[in-house]
Parts: sequence; structure tokens; C-alpha cells
Amino acid sequence: MLLATDLDGTFLAGDTQSRLKLYQLIAAHPDITLVFVTGRGLESVLPLLSDPTIPQPHYIICDVGCTVVHGETLQPVQPLQGSIDALWPGERVVEEALAGFADLQRQDVPQERRCSYFCTAGEVTPALRDVVEDIDCDLLFSAERYLDVLPRGINKGHTLSGLVAHLNIAEERVLVAGDTLNDLSMYEQGYLGVCVGDSESELIRSTEQRARVLHANDTGCGGILEAIAHFGFLGPAGLEAEEREELKRGKADLIIVYHRLPYEEVEQDGKLIRRRPQSPNGIIPTLLSFFADGKAGSWVAWSVDDPQYGEFETHTEVDTKKYPKLVAARVPLTKNDVDIFYKKFSKEAFWPTLHTFWERASFREDHWQVFLAVNKKFAECTAAEAAEGATVWIHDYNLWMVPAFLRELRPDLVIAFFHHTYFPSADVFNVLPWRREIIGSLLQCDYVGFHIPRQAENFVDVARGVAPINVRKKVGCAPRFLTYGCAVGLDEMTTEIEVHGRSIHLGAHPVGLDLNRARSALESAAVRQRMTELREELEGVRVILSVERLDYTKGILEKLNAYEMLLQEHPELIGKITLITVCVPAAREMTIYSELQSQIEQAVGRINGQFAKVGWSPIQFFFRGFPFEELVAYYAMADVMWITPLRDGLNLVAKEYAAVQGMIDGTGVLVLSEFAGAAAELRGAVLANPHDPRELVNTCYFALTMSAAQARSRLRELFEVVQYNDIDHWGQDFLRAVADSATANREAEKPELTLACG
Ligand code: UDP
Repeated sequence: MLLATDLDGTFLAGDTQSRLKLYQLIAAHPDITLVFVTGRGLESVLPLLSDPTIPQPHYIICDVGCTVVHGETLQPVQPLQGSIDALWPGERVVEEALAGFADLQRQDVPQERRCSYFCTAGEVTPALRDVVEDIDCDLLFSAERYLDVLPRGINKGHTLSGLVAHLNIAEERVLVAGDTLNDLSMYEQGYLGVCVGDSESELIRSTEQRARVLHANDTGCGGILEAIAHFGFLGPAGLEAEEREELKRGKADLIIVYHRLPYEEVEQDGKLIRRRPQSPNGIIPTLLSFFADGKAGSWVAWSVDDPQYGEFETHTEVDTKKYPKLVAARVPLTKNDVDIFYKKFSKEAFWPTLHTFWERASFREDHWQVFLAVNKKFAECTAAEAAEGATVWIHDYNLWMVPAFLRELRPDLVIAFFHHTYFPSADVFNVLPWRREIIGSLLQCDYVGFHIPRQAENFVDVARGVAPINVRKKVGCAPRFLTYGCAVGLDEMTTEIEVHGRSIHLGAHPVGLDLNRARSALESAAVRQRMTELREELEGVRVILSVERLDYTKGILEKLNAYEMLLQEHPELIGKITLITVCVPAAREMTIYSELQSQIEQAVGRINGQFAKVGWSPIQFFFRGFPFEELVAYYAMADVMWITPLRDGLNLVAKEYAAVQGMIDGTGVLVLSEFAGAAAELRGAVLANPHDPRELVNTCYFALTMSAAQARSRLRELFEVVQYNDIDHWGQDFLRAVADSATANREAEKPELTLACG
């Protein structure tokens, strides 16, 4: 069948259940050719195409029949479009002809090959009709307020019948649906049709005599469903298709969707065995803690499906004593999937773009397809785990497309997303070829969290370019976050937007530390021993410490160059300071980092060669990761922590340093890039712009020469921030915000989407 439907008041209207039912029915019937036939201009249809819950049309007839394009490519359907173009005298001709009708007000919505005005019935005078006639155009007045001047003979019905003929589809297989007078021409082609409930009375009157037109009771999608049943389009079995598709509900009330399992899987004697994570990052234990009260939960993550390990286990327990009702639901991926989805595509396409290094990004459509397929698997697995109305918490950009697939499968769920990585502004984000799909997916969430307000606001900025957005709520960012005090500061942030009739809540939740981990490291005998050794080895020199992964975002070269300048400009420091750099190399397959690595090695060699003396070298470079406990010993020893990323989502190392120094009542000084997310939160740090070599040198020197009293007072501020906003605070704060937004969304009436044209 071919379903040709008007949008506003018809396909986009009706109660939520009917809309879902119709949309799912269409998804379950790929043999339905869907045609949007709308008074909107093409640009106003685009936001709908990024909404994953709305089925994608095969064709779009817009501008009241003046534009006809393929749904996927948005290219004109020829020769149909050419024949319409030939009839249009041009916008200027129409404007000039109508210049004498001062009361007509041009609509400020996208429009092509037609001119749209607001007007009242009284303004549609014979004189106006004559003028339109004189320029070989038609006049269409509908909904008692919209006036369109169209090329002669062009309307929705005309273009639809041209398309039906072009596609060679039999007339009795076409169902047209509408609700206002500008849909009348579709019924006039003789197709089976439905005027949905609450249609314009003039349309009802004009179609009363047409036996092939049903006047439905239900509004919007409900009316279309009524017509499908009434005319027997898909047969009784067809109408039930979507019910058959319905997934069984799972048992979990809270589902964590994370790329990593809550345990490690290692190969031993040809078998996969599970063990507690060797270096647990702070987030996993916190997320696990939500299941400690016996909450029924599921943790969805991928695992390699390799036949050599025997049959794939879809579910495993996590820790039956601590989390009795938590299961791990494993998403089977091949080694190749993992390689592309996780190691290649995410790092090559998304990571650089998110960090504003878009010129380093490479985009491959075939990799995107793998990314989509993997995200779909995650969504299907999550849908099968979740109990009715459960909360799903999805983590980070690797899983960007999960909300889109999941919302379609399970409209009942509360979907929350936390973005762990930097989120750039529209000028950068829009470089991504799949920006519409990604934002369309995130807009299916009930709640989206970021580290800091700037990232949330950037998201709103990007979303505004994809769909019409209504900002519902804004809040001031101070005093929790810096406003004008750093590059990523912001004075006000959006906390609620409305898109496509849905409310999406936004929040800033910087990840915090597991302070106990740092505390117990400090108390351990091995760390104390290491601290004593370091103290002896570094006797008489002030230590500047730098800890980061090997990555171009981290500004390592810029820092080394600044260090060289510092020694050149302050020769009195030679022999008295040393820069200890811990640089964690990337996995060997990540070849994009090899050039940076050799540049860093050269810079270190150059600086050491230039300044080293017997018994002292300016830089001690460790090209390997340290266990956390050992890092703690270095944090405790360092006089200055020098963290200078060019761009960073947050930066935990900065917080770890502040925590350790605070715990030992130290006098360490944190010099932090104002482009790290943590800068917006860490009052007390000395902020620096890493793009400015002069400032890098000056701030480092300032930190080295700061009085102990000032250092202590800065540290007090820093310690207070990291102590209070720890990792548990982060997790609880996030889930509380999600629950509040879900309650607000449930209570709020969901208004229909209406644009200024019919
Ligand atoms: N880290 C570590 N050993 C090292 C270097 C870093 O365990 O040799 C840890 C560090 O303690 C911190 C994390 O790695 O918790 C790095 O997090 P951050 O947010 O600073 O940077 P990211 O790598 O996430 O960009």
C-alpha cells in the first residue's frame, strides 16, 4: 500500500498510543510506501527525519505540492519536479503583484516555488483572485488563516497523482489522509481517503459526497488506523503485526549500559575466566553500589563472541553476595566488530571531533554501519532486560545511537545518558556526517548529563540546528561552577528543552573521586615506602609533575616547549627543578598516536640534551602507566602539578592531586588548563591557557615561586570541592535528577507539535 499523509494535524497528531501503534505498524511493514504530503517547506520537514521514532518516508511532497523529493537522498523526483518548476513565475513576480495588498503578511517559514501568507477570509477578495490569476497562479486558502500562491494547477493532489503514476502503483492501493482544506485535492484524485477526527469543517463538507472517503472519529494517527482497518488494507493480521513484534518485558528496574563489563574477562588455558577489575576505575564500583540494596538490575556490556571459548553466555552473575539481583547481560560482538566499533571508529571519527580536533577526524560510512549495528544490539539487549517503566542509564559516545533504537522498542522506559567526553559547539560538532542521527537519538532521552554546564549548553546549541527547540528552563551556574573565570565557564545553563513535543532535561554532573581509594593508598606501607624513596632521590629539587595518556588533546608537546622556555628564561632554576612526566602509551593498534610519540621523544631528548648536568636532568620521562598506588606517591611528592590539556572532558588526575595533597596537608599547587572540564569546578587552581606559550611559562613560574601560605589556602579550596563532590555524590545526584525529570515528564501534558503551516 501507499500511505500519503498530511503531517500537522494528521500523521503527527493523535494520542501517544495511536501514534506509536501506527509508527510501529509501518516499521513492521516495509512493503508500505510512506509519502509525507505537507504544507511545510522541506527545511521544516528535516527535523522530523532526525526523530528516530517517526518512520522515514520514501517520498516527501512538501510546499503544498510544489516540491517532491526522495525521502532518503532529498533529491528531486524527476521529471515531476522539473514540470512543476516550469510553471512557477518566481517569488519576485508574486511579491510585486501582491504588493498592493498591504494586509497580507508573508509567513516567516521555509517555502519554495510558492508564497505563503497569513490572511483572514475577508481578505480573499475577487481583486486578489484576479491578480493571482493574472500571474498564472492558483490561490489556496485553508484553515481560515493560511493563504498560498501556487503555480497554476499545482497542489498536493496533483503532485501525489504524478508520483503514483511515476511509481506505477495501482490507484486502489493508495490511502490518503488529511485534516484541512489544503488536503482536499488529494481526495479529488479519487483515491481512498480518510479525514481524521477534528478535521476542518470545510474539508468535511467538501468530501461528504465522496463514498471513498472515511470521516474518522479518532484524531491524527488514530484516524489513519481506523481507515486502514475500515478499508481492509493490511488485513486483520497486518494490523496486529506490531503486537506480535512486542518484546517480552524483563525484570530489571535499573539497567546500566556501559561499554565495559563490571568484571574483567581474561583468557586462561583457552578459556575465558572472570575476575575483579585489576585497576578498578572509580565509576564501576559506584555504579555497582546502586544494586547493593538488592535492587533488581542488569548491566549491559559487550563481550567477544569467539567460538574457541565455547557457547556464548548471554547472562552471568556479577557478585551474588553483594548484588544478589544484578546480572550482567553480555552483548556478543565479534573481534572485528570490537575493533571497528571501539578501537577504530570511535577513536578516529568521534574522539577528535568531540575534542575540537575535527581536522584529524576521518569518517567512513562502512564503519558507521558497524557502529549502528552494535548500538542496535545494545538497545535490543537492554529492551529485553528492562521491566515496565525501568530506568536505563547509558554511558558515553560509544553508545550514542542506543536511545534511538531503544525508544522505538520500549517507549515506557526512562532513558538517561551521561556524556563522559567533551561536547563541542555546533561549529565543530556539525562536521560529523551523522549529526542528525546522533542528536535525534540523544533527544529520545528523558535526561542527558554532562560534566559541566558549557558542555550541556553546547549540546543545546547543536540540537537547535537539528530540530525546533523550545528552551523551557535555565538556571544560573554559580556558585558551583565558574562563570567568566575560565574558557569553559558559563553563567547560565539550559536544564530543560522541549523538542517534538517531548521534554528533555539536562544537567551538569562532574565525575568525582573515590576518596577512599586515595586514602587507603596513602595508608599502605608500600606507598609510604615509595614516598620515602622518592623524597631521598629528589632531595633538593622542586618537582613539577605531569600525568596523562598519550593523546594530542593533552597538550604534552606544548607543555614541553613551555618548559624549555622556562629554563631558558630562568637559568636560576637549572638544577633546582625537575619535570616528571608520566605518559601512558596508547594501545599498539592505535597508529594515529605514533607520530605524536616520536615528536614527544624528540622534544624530551632536545631539552635534556640542552640543559642536563651530571647528577641532574631537567625531565624524567616515563613512557608507561603507573599503578594508581604509585601515582599517589608521586602526587604526594610533587610541588607543582602541571596539567595542560588543549581540551579535556573533565580531568580526574587534577582532582586526584588535589585530594592527595589535601589529605597530607601539603602545599602543592595545581596549574590547570582552563580548557579542562575540571577547571570550571576547581576553584583554587592556577588556570592557564595552553594555547598561549607565554602564559604556560608564567603560570608555571608563578606556581613554583608561590608562598606556602598562599598555596595552602588555594589547596583548602580545592580539597573542599573534591571532598564534597565525590564519586558517590556524582552517581546519586545524577540518578536523583533522572528520577525528578521522569516524574516531571509523566505529569506534564505532552503538547502536539504545530508549525505555522498546515
Ligand atoms: N592513571 C593511572 N596510571 C597512570 C596514569 C593515569 O592509573 O599512569 C589514571 C589516573 O589515576 C586517572 C585516570 O587514569 O584516574 C585518567 O583520567 P583522566 O580523567 O585524567 O584522563 P582520561 O585518560 O580519562 O582522558
